[in-house]
Amino acid sequence: MKIITVIGARPQFIKAAVVSRAIRQMALHGIDMQEFILHTGQHYDDNMSDLFFRQLAIPVPRWHLNCGNNMEEMKAAIRPVLESERPDIVLVYGDTNSTLAGAETAHALYIPIAHIEAGLRSFNDSMPEEHNRIVTDRLSTWLFCPTRTAVENLKREGITRNVFHTGDVMYDATLLFTPEEDQQQAILQHFGLTSKHFALATIHRASTAENISALSAIFEALAQLPVPVLLPLHPHTAKTVQQNKILQDLLNLSQNIRLIRPVGYIEMLALEKHALYILTDSGGMQKEAYFQHTPCITLREETEWIETVDAGWNRLAGTDTERIRKAVELPFAKQPITDFGDGRSAQQIIQILCPNDR
Ligand code: UDP
Repeated sequence: MKIITVIGARPQFIKAAVVSRAIRQMALHGIDMQEFILHTGQHYDDNMSDLFFRQLAIPVPRWHLNCGNNMEEMKAAIRPVLESERPDIVLVYGDTNSTLAGAETAHALYIPIAHIEAGLRSFNDSMPEEHNRIVTDRLSTWLFCPTRTAVENLKREGITRNVFHTGDVMYDATLLFTPEEDQQQAILQHFGLTSKHFALATIHRASTAENISALSAIFEALAQLPVPVLLPLHPHTAKTVQQNKILQDLLNLSQNIRLIRPVGYIEMLALEKHALYILTDSGGMQKEAYFQHTPCITLREETEWIETVDAGWNRLAGTDTERIRKAVELPFAKQPITDFGDGRSAQQIIQILCPNDR
C-alpha cells in the first residue's frame, strides 16, 4: 500500500512525525506499507519547518513544492505528483490550506483520503480553518477524530461512516518527544528561566496576528502579568509587529515580555511543562498545556478543544486586556480528560488503514 502524506505547516510536521513512525514500524513487521511525504512549502523558515524534520526524525520529503500559502498554486503543483504516483491513500492533517489542497486534489483524482484530526469545529465561520475542516471532512474516506466531541460534530453533519475516535496523535507526540528532566533543566537554563516562575505565550491566528488593536490589548495584558512572559513570535505576527510602531513601542517599553524566535518542538515541550501558565491562540498548545499539566488561557472567544475548558484546564479570555489579566488570577479546576487516548493513537490509525488482511 502506498501512502502520500501532504503536509506544509508546523503542527502538521509534529503530527506526521508520530504517524510516519507508526507506518515505518508496520513496514518493519512485514506489512506492505510505504509512505512518501509531500511538503507544500506553506511554512518554509528553518525554525518553522526543517528544524522539525531534523528534531523529530521525519523522513525527508520526496517532493517539496515551495508554494507558500497559496492554495491554487498548491493544488496545481500537487496534481501532477498524485497523477503519476497514484497512491492508495492521501493522508492529510488538521485544517490548513495544505490540508484542503491535498484533499481537494486527491478527491478530483478519485484517490481515497484519510483525515487525521477530523471533526473539529469552532462554529466560527469567519475562520479560514473552519472552512478547510468542513470541506476536508466531507471529502474524506476515513475520519480519525481526536475527541468524542469531534465524532458528535460529524454526526450532526450526517457523517458517520468510517468515523473513528482514535485519540490524539499530539498526545502520542508529547509522550514521545518530551525530553528527560536534565534536558528540560538545560532548556530552562538556556532561556534564563526558573520552573513555574514564567508564563509562555504564542499568537499566530490571522484574526489576531493581523489585528493591531487585538495585538495591543494582548501585549498590554502580558506586560501586566506578575511573572515574566516568554513569547516565541510566529513569523506572521512578527510581520505585523515589524510594520507597526505602536506595537513595537509597547513591546520595547514592557520589561515583562521577552520576544524570541519560534523554538523547536523539544524546547517547546519543556517550556510548556515548566511554565506557570500558557497564554495562546494555538489549538495544539491548548492541548499540550493539558498534557503537561499547565493551565491555559486561550486568547480567543471559542475553542475546538472544549474538553479542556470543561475539565477546568483552559479558560477563554478573548483579546481583552482586563479579561486576560483576571483569567490568570482565578484558580483552575483541573479534572482529567480521557478523550485523547493512551498515547498509541498513531498505531491505531495505521491499523485501521492497513489491517493485516486487507
Ligand atoms: N510550537 C513549537 N515552537 C513554537 C511554537 C509552537 O514547536 O515556537 C509547536 C507547539 O508545541 C504545538 C504546535 O507548534 O505542537 C502548534 O502549532 P501552531 O500553534 O502553529 O498551530 P495550531 O496548533 O494552532 O494549528
